[in-house]
Amino acid sequence: MIDPVTLEEQYGAHNYHPLPVTIAHAEGAWVTDTGGQRYLDCLAGYSALNFGHRHPALIAAATAQLGRVTLTSRAFHHDQLGPFCAELAALSGKDAVLPMNSGAEAVETALKLARRWGYLVKGVPDGRATIIVADGNFHGRTISIISFSGDAVAHDNYGPYTPGFRSVPYGDAAALEAAIDDTTVAVLLEPVQGEAGVIVPPPGYLAAVREACTRNDVLMIADEIQSGLGRAGATFASQRAGVVPDAYILGKALGGGIVALSAVVTDRAIMDVITPGTHGSTFGGNPLAAAVGRAVVELLAPGDLQQHALDLEPALRERLEPLRAHGLVGLRVHGLWAGLDLDPALGTGRDLCEKLADHGVLAKDTHGSTIRLSPPLTVTTTELDWLTERLTLALKSLAA
Ligand SMILES: *Cc1c(COP(=O)(O)O)cnc(C)c1O
Repeated sequence: MIDPVTLEEQYGAHNYHPLPVTIAHAEGAWVTDTGGQRYLDCLAGYSALNFGHRHPALIAAATAQLGRVTLTSRAFHHDQLGPFCAELAALSGKDAVLPMNSGAEAVETALKLARRWGYLVKGVPDGRATIIVADGNFHGRTISIISFSGDAVAHDNYGPYTPGFRSVPYGDAAALEAAIDDTTVAVLLEPVQGEAGVIVPPPGYLAAVREACTRNDVLMIADEIQSGLGRAGATFASQRAGVVPDAYILGKALGGGIVALSAVVTDRAIMDVITPGTHGSTFGGNPLAAAVGRAVVELLAPGDLQQHALDLEPALRERLEPLRAHGLVGLRVHGLWAGLDLDPALGTGRDLCEKLADHGVLAKDTHGSTIRLSPPLTVTTTELDWLTERLTLALKSLAA
């Protein structure tokens, strides 16, 4: 048999640069490679695996649904969509759900919803709507989304770009409000910027943005695709800041690590600007995805996982802090989520992730010398001890 990675390099597009680990099996917070080596998964599918790999309740829900019906298209009703929307709305404190598949599609959906709301409700002149975003954002990979990305690698050579976006410094509410004018329909923000390196905005920022949006009749849209569903130690990172946005964008963990499932969750009055035929998706809200999504919501409904992530935040911080003695120059911890800046003199984030893999931990650099840790929310303090021990060894081997 030809090595699978050789085949991937020969026949696959080269749009990723994976670490040299070939996963063959996974369970809970652990994965096993084709050679039988085990790793603690501290990327967890960029937070798509918040419940760990193959969570029994999620596998059971998927398996049961595989035995009933998997796809209908939205041309017909099916018996999972309504309950999924109702249960996700209840979890979110909202009353309308529009399901899609990938995160980027849900972001696109929110942008379309905001523009349509701007024209039909706010009364912005047709074709003039603007949406405010933040520098350092990551919202996905479509043409419109990369049009307002400041990341040259993601952005360059994909023009012509979609107009109608203004980017302002993240964390500066005054700059954001100054960018609002009569054409502004929405502000789109990550409550914590994940890809930027787990950047937590200054206290009061999200609340000030909320006030500015309310004052100026602008929708506040929180992209909680990575920060939501427990990662930040609450159902939503917005919640920890005491803020209720007009719309949440969800994805990643919503599909339980089994299916691609995303959604925009908002108020009925806003959602109703979308009418039959004006937006859609063949796979959006399909029976299999909806059944898995319902099981995900059921896992989150009691709040225990979110509380576990919040409880482990100080445990994670106190374990990572001492690593400053071993070349860590920056550290941000929020829930079970950490951004670590390595002293660039020691190497890049990639170098550190390669050393970590050698020591049995999977993590991913975001850019430069920054890496992100986002273990499954089911991780234990014993596993955090093990992670810290391995991280120390990896840092020491970089310094050697
Ligand atoms: C991952 C991510 C997206 C894009 O999701 P895809 O499923 O990769 O399209 C959008 N926003 C945020 C904050 C993300 O982390």
